[in-house]
Amino acid sequence: MKQNYMKGLNYDDFVLTSEGLKEEDRSKAIKNLQDYLKEQKGRFLGYQVNHNMTYDEDLKPFLNMHINNVGDPFIESNYTMSSKAMEKAVLDYYAKLWNGITPHDKENPESYWGYTLSMGSTEGNVYAIWNARDYLSGKELLIDESKGNSNKVFNPSNLSKNLATNNENTYTPIAFYSQDTHYSIKKAMRVLSFETFYEIGSSKYHCPLRFPEDYPSGYSKGNLGEGGWPLEVPSNHDGSIHIPSLTKLIDFFTGKGYPVFVCFNYGTTFKGAYDQVEKAVNALVPILKKNKMYEREIPYKEKSCHGTVIRNGFWFHVDGALGAAYMPYIEKSVKEGKLSLPEGYDFPKFDFRIPEVNSIVMSIHKWVGAPFSCGLLMTKTKYQLLPPANPMYIGSPDTTFAGSRNGLAPIVLWNFLAKHSEEKLKEMALKTEKIAQYAERRLKELEKVLQIDLWVERSPLALTVRFRKPNDQVIFSNTLSCETVFVGEEKRDYAHVYAMEHVTEEMIDLLIEDLRDSDAYQEFNDSPLEVEIHPMENCLGS
Ligand SMILES: *Cc1c(COP(=O)(O)O)cnc(C)c1O
Repeated sequence: MKQNYMKGLNYDDFVLTSEGLKEEDRSKAIKNLQDYLKEQKGRFLGYQVNHNMTYDEDLKPFLNMHINNVGDPFIESNYTMSSKAMEKAVLDYYAKLWNGITPHDKENPESYWGYTLSMGSTEGNVYAIWNARDYLSGKELLIDESKGNSNKVFNPSNLSKNLATNNENTYTPIAFYSQDTHYSIKKAMRVLSFETFYEIGSSKYHCPLRFPEDYPSGYSKGNLGEGGWPLEVPSNHDGSIHIPSLTKLIDFFTGKGYPVFVCFNYGTTFKGAYDQVEKAVNALVPILKKNKMYEREIPYKEKSCHGTVIRNGFWFHVDGALGAAYMPYIEKSVKEGKLSLPEGYDFPKFDFRIPEVNSIVMSIHKWVGAPFSCGLLMTKTKYQLLPPANPMYIGSPDTTFAGSRNGLAPIVLWNFLAKHSEEKLKEMALKTEKIAQYAERRLKELEKVLQIDLWVERSPLALTVRFRKPNDQVIFSNTLSCETVFVGEEKRDYAHVYAMEHVTEEMIDLLIEDLRDSDAYQEFNDSPLEVEIHPMENCLGS
């Protein structure tokens, strides 16, 4: 039987043999894959990656060599073929853009530190969460400053083993993130055995939130788990984190002595929403202070030497996979009067202007665009992890996650920034916002024509528009992504489009044509009663 492994491709063309392939078969297979990808690229709408790229010329000279940025970006390693000069330049660029302190200087604890990721934001999220776990659980860091003697930098060995505490929660960090959070965060929790407020809360305590009064309006009971605890921090309808319930939860747990890790989203994956990071931090700081968790003393003992280090009892991480790349240009454009904010909406500030922000990640392949997944992580020098080992082999401190690190990633990003002035980047950011507005308008017009409620919605300043999921053919030909979302107690299947730089009005028009086709929403052609399958029947039938 023929395997239809991927739509639009025939797997038989790609099967390898121990003899390799005949030249003509090899070229044919490559051509087939290329043609298929070109076709899909022409109509690619559903994911937040930018296909507008002209790297073929600029990257070509680097493709017949192996460039590897192994080790710390600021310290040359024995592996001489690196692009660390460009890596440092792009890190400096984003440190400035995100209002961090530049340049990186290991003598200045407040200065930024970061590196370019070989994976996308997933790697940055894992790294930041690992960093947060060590920091909050009282493990030794790369640099620890003793109290009252900030000039003295020391490395107490095995800090956590010597911790004296009479509260068992003191070094048990717990995580908070909203229901709109990317799955990479949940994966990181599992990898790092990092417990969430739900896991600890539902096994030990009564939930401090009352339903429905403490929840955002329209919150679905389907998001509640054991003991009436929310599985994740509730989100507002637009996908941003609900600050009042976050605040209550943090008050509850810091009151019991737990240090807290909060992951904010800056451009959620499905709704493209921005958490109001500054507002949330402003609401949380007084609570942390009240519960003695804003700053705390951590005792250490090293040989005969005793002392304390001062650390925060919180870590605020910003998952800016998408939004951290362009929202700084949107903010500038708003200030210059080139874009107006939706009625009653405050610009969501997120970066190192907020002194309590500990780490930020961004994917490079999303808004910027890169031919492979890659990203960037940024934190401050004073928070840097102590690497578990100090391998001689690479000749540079092993302060990053991967061993070998993608040396092309910094070249791609450097090249992009070298070719785009800030003025151009503001234009690019505004262009993507305009295309998102256009998509929203066209979908709303279509809704009137079809007389079907398409549930068209766009969160404030989001680059994505969500709408009722159409048939599989439309999803495939436009590469749409889909998600099931609770709206009140109703479970809805949505699709969305993302306005990345390569997306044109013509591409949106083609989607609208597809959706106007009578098959796109076939369920409305038949009698609705016949197609409606009760979820219970579904279960019984299988
Ligand atoms: C895409 C995305 C990620 C993961 O990024 P990758 O680059 O795919 O690893 C993390 N968080 C959010 C909000 C995302 O949209």
